[in-house]
Amino acid sequence: MQIDWQKAIDEILASKVSGLRCGTLVEEVLVGYSRSPAATPFSPLCQGCNPREECDARKLVVVCDACAAELRLRGHKVGQEGMMAALLDECRRNLEESLDYLADYWREDLDVDPQDMDKRLEELDPQIFAQEDTWRRYLEEQYLKFHRWFRERALPIPNPGWRSEYAEEIIALGYQTLLGD
Ligand SMILES: [Zn+2]
Ligand SMILES: [Zn+2]
Repeated sequence: MQIDWQKAIDEILASKVSGLRCGTLVEEVLVGYSRSPAATPFSPLCQGCNPREECDARKLVVVCDACAAELRLRGHKVGQEGMMAALLDECRRNLEESLDYLADYWREDLDVDPQDMDKRLEELDPQIFAQEDTWRRYLEEQYLKFHRWFRERALPIPNPGWRSEYAEEIIALGYQTLLGD
């Protein structure tokens, strides 16, 4: 059964928690990590990653107890706030990875010629840049959603200084961000 993540997050925002595999609404969900491409449908942030089908990145998955047992997935049980904190954290981790990639890692990744070392990713490989940019934008949009969730409930955001640090770094690299001021 395919679960519509957008619908699931709407339900979550409406203060229910649902496992993303079977869609069961529960008090507590299990959050864990998996590298398996088969876990992609139950990984909230993977809904924006590319290409989704072959995603073998370590990803956060949100499932109910019964599904976790079936998938042999280990993790910890959390209520709604714990789940939102885990999502926020996962979002930040992915944004930091994206930042590192744009700053430097892409040169290793693409095995850049020494003569092209001064060039930017968008000049050397516009297609990969566009892919990375779309992914980063998606993550930032999710970040804003999660942030809003905490705000609306007057709950403290974990590690609130993270956002401005990220924004300063990405702007210093010459890129735009939705998380700036
Ligand atoms: Zn993914
Ligand atoms: Zn389930």
